[in-house]
Amino acid sequence: MQKGSKIWYNGKLLDWDEAHIHVLTHGLHYGIGVFEGIRAYETEKGIAIFRLHDHLKRLFNSAKIYMMNIPYGYDEVVDAIIETVKANGMPDCYIRPIAFTAYGLMGVNPLKNKIDLAIAVWKWGEYIGEENKGIRCLISSWRRIDPRSMPVQAKATANYANSALARMEAIKNGYDEAIMLNIDGMVAESSAENVFIVSDGKLKTPPTTAGALSGITRDSLLQIASYKGIEYEIVNITRDDLYSADEVFLTGTAAGIKPVIEIDKRVIGDGEIGVVTKELKSIYDEIVRGKNSRFEKWLTIIK
Ligand code: PMP
Repeated sequence: MQKGSKIWYNGKLLDWDEAHIHVLTHGLHYGIGVFEGIRAYETEKGIAIFRLHDHLKRLFNSAKIYMMNIPYGYDEVVDAIIETVKANGMPDCYIRPIAFTAYGLMGVNPLKNKIDLAIAVWKWGEYIGEENKGIRCLISSWRRIDPRSMPVQAKATANYANSALARMEAIKNGYDEAIMLNIDGMVAESSAENVFIVSDGKLKTPPTTAGALSGITRDSLLQIASYKGIEYEIVNITRDDLYSADEVFLTGTAAGIKPVIEIDKRVIGDGEIGVVTKELKSIYDEIVRGKNSRFEKWLTIIK
């Protein structure tokens, strides 16, 4: 992570090193916080924020699920994000808005806590593995959180305890990333990405009802697949489907499109990045860099 210079915090742009919270911040103790991970890319027309509105809709929905009243309107948050990106002057950056229950009251009930909103921006290179290389995954022994216990469609800080356990397990065992099954043994997602397979030329990804976050990169790829005439199916995927797939890849804002070349010591396909993965990744890269007019609507250009 290469730090930015300014962090937007409750309406003010603070110097990066001055953006502090109190140790008794409620959200830190009880895990009540919702956030987004957004990327902006340098394009010929200016800095382009990718699918800003889809990310913000998800942020406000996450807050609603947790009964958090973000004390800024939707348009104010859009403006705050643009202001923060501009203030940091980083053409390629990762943007992290986070709303959380603030300092003031302790105890599990968060209903009376004030909600703080912060927006940070930093330069984040390769999130998993190395650029243009496939990664090795482990099927985690930790099951993905179940919608009967936690709302999995809220992008909530609390969910990431489950993700972190899985990711640590993978890393400690020498893998790059963990793929998690749900309580019923079906593939849900990885610690911070959605999972796709390609079998007999057909693209498949688990439904959100399997416990997968409704990923914005996932949705982008499905729309790109439609446009390119690549057949796809949203269907439950089993562990053995993963092992015997021709191609497997992960999608997420931080990670991008990450080819998986090995799972649990089984080589996927021929162990190389697959042709469908390559094609989708190259179109996605074109789109985020403003080089594909068909999907220009996904870019919020900052002059
Ligand atoms: N699943 C989880 C658990 C995630 O944290 C993320 C990252 N937000 C994703 C999937 C991918 O979502 P997106 O493509 O919107 O970044």
